[in-house]
Amino acid sequence: MTTTEWAGAATIVDGPGGYTGVDATPEWAEEVRRLARERNATLLAHNYQLPAIQDIADHVGDSLALSRIAAEAEEDTIVFCGVHFMAETAKILSPDKTVLIPDERAGCSLADSITADQLREWKADHPDAVVVSYVNTTAEVKGLTDICCTSSNAVDVVASIDPDREVLFLPDQFLGAHVKRETGRDNIHIWAGECHVHAGINGDELAAQSRSHPDADLFVHPECGCATSALYLAGEGFVPDDKVKILSTGGMIDAARETGAKQVLVATEVGMLHQLRKAAPGIDFQPVNDRAACPYMKMITPAALLRCLREGADEVHVARDVADRARLSVQRMIAIGNPGSGE
Ligand code: SF4
Repeated sequence: MTTTEWAGAATIVDGPGGYTGVDATPEWAEEVRRLARERNATLLAHNYQLPAIQDIADHVGDSLALSRIAAEAEEDTIVFCGVHFMAETAKILSPDKTVLIPDERAGCSLADSITADQLREWKADHPDAVVVSYVNTTAEVKGLTDICCTSSNAVDVVASIDPDREVLFLPDQFLGAHVKRETGRDNIHIWAGECHVHAGINGDELAAQSRSHPDADLFVHPECGCATSALYLAGEGFVPDDKVKILSTGGMIDAARETGAKQVLVATEVGMLHQLRKAAPGIDFQPVNDRAACPYMKMITPAALLRCLREGADEVHVARDVADRARLSVQRMIAIGNPGSGE
């Protein structure tokens, strides 16, 4: 492709933590927009991305909403600023488009907590079970899944399954515990996976924060280690029931626009605060744990995005047969209704 070189691009450095060496200056933003036009690419950014990446994107949202936007986009190239399984999901739903991720090393500890081989073994132990997978899974694992789910609809998906059939729920143990409690099923087996970022937001921190901010609403992502504590605190009357909201990232944006609270404590990855503050500037949003930053999400740096658009890399590939099977599991979820949003 022909480009007029921008001098700033010469400073990109590839290190173990990702690509660095470029600041998010107005010149960088202009170059990114120019290269995106030249490639006929649309830029998608997950809610946990760095603020500069969120601000330059065409669309910001949760993983499933972005994948659906990718499928409907007129552009034939999708640049997915998020982690690898999210870009794979976009490719599954848009097999004929070119899907790029600015750094393919951006993984996910939750998606990595179960491999396709581990799932095959688990299924062999429970041959009649229905497999329900959260969207934070690799394409291969989705290809072995009966129905996908998001944090918004996990309860509905499991409730839709014949009560006499066993359910294998994966990979998130906190979301699984939430689903088990809500559905009252005792034939649900839960994989012991977790996201190290969300698991680090614990119940003690949440309880301390809610005591020192008694009038604040609590927005809690169901993957959080504190989600169970939040429901317990509400159940025991330590915090008013209507103050605790267990929400996906997309659900948090809607709730921010609707809440009458002046302050909201947010229990999820800290990148979420940027969109919440934009959506409801009059509300004081505070993190329950200000160290809850996903290192994989933060690998999508200004340097990585610039390199991606210059070189057309890294391209995401999913084998056709895997994508076809994985797509079925996503479509079954959408048919049940209320897909809401992913992480
Ligand atoms: S915050 Fe956790 S679940 Fe989300 S991408 Fe990072 S490691 Fe994965």
